[in-house]
Amino acid sequence: MEAPEFKDFAKEMVDYIANYLENIRERRVLPEVSPGYLRPIIPDEAPIKPESWQAVMSDIERVIMPGVTHWHSPKFHAYFPTGNSYPAIVADMLSGAIACIGFSWIASPACTELEVVMLDWLGKMLDLPEEFLACSGGRGGGVIQGTASEATLVALLGAKAKKLQEVKKEHPDWEDSVILSKLVAYTSAQAHSSVERAGLLGGVRFRLVEPDENFQMRGEALEEAIKRDIEDGLIPFYAVVTLGTTSACTFDRLDECGPVGNRYGLWVHIDAAYAGSAFICPEYRHLMRGIETADSFNFNPHKWLLVNFDCSAMWLKDPTWLVNAFNVDPLYLKHEMQGSAPDYRHWQIPLGRRFRALKLWFVLRLYGIENLQAHIRRHCGFAKQFEGLVLKDPRFEIVAKVQMGLVCFRLKESNELNEQLLKSINSRGNVHMVPSKINGKYFLRMAVCSRFTVSEDMEYTWNEVKAATEETLANNKH
Ligand code: PLP
Repeated sequence: MEAPEFKDFAKEMVDYIANYLENIRERRVLPEVSPGYLRPIIPDEAPIKPESWQAVMSDIERVIMPGVTHWHSPKFHAYFPTGNSYPAIVADMLSGAIACIGFSWIASPACTELEVVMLDWLGKMLDLPEEFLACSGGRGGGVIQGTASEATLVALLGAKAKKLQEVKKEHPDWEDSVILSKLVAYTSAQAHSSVERAGLLGGVRFRLVEPDENFQMRGEALEEAIKRDIEDGLIPFYAVVTLGTTSACTFDRLDECGPVGNRYGLWVHIDAAYAGSAFICPEYRHLMRGIETADSFNFNPHKWLLVNFDCSAMWLKDPTWLVNAFNVDPLYLKHEMQGSAPDYRHWQIPLGRRFRALKLWFVLRLYGIENLQAHIRRHCGFAKQFEGLVLKDPRFEIVAKVQMGLVCFRLKESNELNEQLLKSINSRGNVHMVPSKINGKYFLRMAVCSRFTVSEDMEYTWNEVKAATEETLANNKH
C-alpha cells in the first residue's frame, strides 16, 4: 500500500470509527454468534494476490461486528470499564507510525523521556508522595506496564531480591534456596486472582488474609498472619493491599496494613487497578490514606481514565531493586548514556515496549484534569442513582457499600434464583452484567463502563433488571 491509498483507507476508517462509537448504543451489546461462527465466513487461506482496502472495509460489518461484545456501549455493565477516547485512539495511530521499541533511552529517547514526565504528571494528579516522582530528584519514578498483573509480579520480584539480600547480610551462611523456600507474601482473600498468580509465577507462597465484615483487609488480621509465620520460622517479605477489589470494589485499610508491613520489613505494593483513577478527585483520596507507607503503587489508566488498553501506571520509591534484579546486560543493548535516564527494559518483564506514553500525553492534554475528574464523578453519580433504584424495590438488597462506579446487588432470595435472574438479564441481550460471590453469597455486579452513559441509561438498565425479575419469578412459580 502506498501513501495516497493509505490516506483514503485511514480517512474512511476514521469515519467508520466515529460512526461506530457515536451509534454504539443502537447495537445489541452481546453478540448472538456461536463458537466457530467465523471460520466458515472467510476463506481457508490467505489470498495470493492483494485485495483492495475497500474489500477489507466491507468485511468489518459482515465478519467482525457480529462477533463483537460492545464494551463501550452504555448497556455494557460487566467486569470493570476499559478506557476509550478519541485522543488515545489517535495517539495509538502515531505510536504505530513511529513504531519504535523503546527498551532503552537510546532506542528512542522521546519514548523514555515522555514516559518519565507523564508518570510525574499523573503522580501529581493523584497527589502521590514526592518519593514516587522522578522530578523529586530522589530514586523514585514511574513506568508504564502493560497490565496490573505485570506490576504485581514485577513488585514481587523486586521485593524478593531485596529480602534475599537483607537475609544474606544477616545470615551469610544460608543458601539462596533455603531463604527462598521460607519467603511468604500476604494479600486479602478478596484480592484479584492475578495477585495469587504472581506468587505462583514468582515461586513463593501467598497467605490469603480473611477480610472483615465489610470485605476490607485489616491491620490486625495481617499482623496476626505475619506473626504466626515468623513463629514458624518463615520470612514475610511482601504484602499486596487492594484499593478497589474486583468483586465488590471495597478498600483494604491501607492506613492499618501499610504500617504493619513497614514494621515487619515487608515490601508494600498497592493494587488500585480500577479505583486508582478516582484519586485524581480529592474527595476520594481518604481511601488511600497511608499511601506514604507503600513501596510501589499501581493503577490502570486503561480502565477508568479514558486511555485505551494497554497503559498500567506503576510507581516505585526505589526502582534500583528491580533494575538490579533484572539486569542482564549484553553488549548489543549497552549505550553510552547509560545511567543518565531510565532504561525501562530493567523495570519490566519483556524487553520490547511500545510508545504508550503518547496516549497519556494526548488524553491529559485534550481532556484536562477538570474533564477527567468530571468523568469519574459522573460515573460515581450514575452508580449512586442505580443504587437508589435498587433500594426502592424491597425485593432487592445492596451487598457492598457503593463507593465508585460499581453496584453489587441481589434479590433477597436463594443463590439459584439470583443465578437465574442474571441468566435472564443476559439472555434478553439488552444489557450485560457478570456475577460474583463473597462468603457463599452470589450477587450481580452493575459496573458503569461507557463514557457515553447518561442518566436515562441507568433507568433503562434497571427496567431490564425488573423485567428479567418478573420472568424469573414467574418461571419459578410452576
Ligand atoms: N487487580 C484488580 C483489583 C482488578 O480489578 C483487575 C482487573 O479487573 C486486575 C488486578 C487485573 O488487571 P490487569 O488486566 O491490568 O492485569
